[in-house]
Amino acid sequence: MSLRATIWGARGSIPAPGPDTARYGGNTACVSVELPESASGRVIILDAGTGIRNLGRKLAEAEKPVDVDLVVSHTHWDHIQGLPFFAPLFADGSRVRIWGAKQGDVDLETILREQMNPVVFPVPLDGLAAELQVVHVGEGEFELDGCLVSVMRVRHPGHTLGLRLQPTEGGPSLAYVTDNEVGSGGNYEVGSDWRDRFIKFLDGVDTLIHDSMYTEEEVKKYSGWGHSSFVEAVDVAAEAGAKRLVLFHHNPDHDDEAVDKLLSEARAVAAERAGNLDVIAGCEGMELNI
Ligand SMILES: [Zn+2]
Ligand SMILES: [Zn+2]
Repeated sequence: MSLRATIWGARGSIPAPGPDTARYGGNTACVSVELPESASGRVIILDAGTGIRNLGRKLAEAEKPVDVDLVVSHTHWDHIQGLPFFAPLFADGSRVRIWGAKQGDVDLETILREQMNPVVFPVPLDGLAAELQVVHVGEGEFELDGCLVSVMRVRHPGHTLGLRLQPTEGGPSLAYVTDNEVGSGGNYEVGSDWRDRFIKFLDGVDTLIHDSMYTEEEVKKYSGWGHSSFVEAVDVAAEAGAKRLVLFHHNPDHDDEAVDKLLSEARAVAAERAGNLDVIAGCEGMELNI
């Protein structure tokens, strides 16, 4: 059983549209995952950044009610801001289940409701046509219709989830770890053995989508901000024995040329330290067959 992932948004922090970012895309984090050989045709969505709008338009083309699961890594704007523009939410008969962590004492549903508070958005959460269910998840595992989802808390402000997906009947795996500071900066409630557990969590993963927002100069300047450099991402992928690394959460200040440069430097580092690791840069519209 294989997996197919599609990237609908690879940008971090804030949308960065414009001619200089057109190749990698300006939309923020959203990835869809399908099990092409599964009869259910189910779609699992990872994050609801602004990229989810185009995914919603695609799903609406089928002109039938949509039944999807959305797993939210955390609730910073760039990971939920597209949700109010996700077309299936406005379609009668559609069902959307949203999985994610509480932020402190605040329920995920409360956060999504506030995002659509009438003072900032015209349609309240209760005004949506789709049937909506919000489920809290923390570290551990849960199953989504033939796909096992493993969850680990990562090093980022708030309660942020790293995800690993694998067909329940076995087969290749995909890890989605956007927004994660693998360096020593910051103060996160993840325990002193975090790095060892993280490497085990990723052990032998086929495709790792990982935060690589910064260059080496930037990561020094922004230590404690919750993100990684591309070198740190390569090191983690190599240590875990990942087969492919997808650079993700591109810095909104990096234009296409800057991401090209970052990618070629990441490949040079991988060639030196990571054997056969394949490194690519996440790009809007990119399909990953896993
Ligand atoms: Zn982010
Ligand atoms: Zn974040």
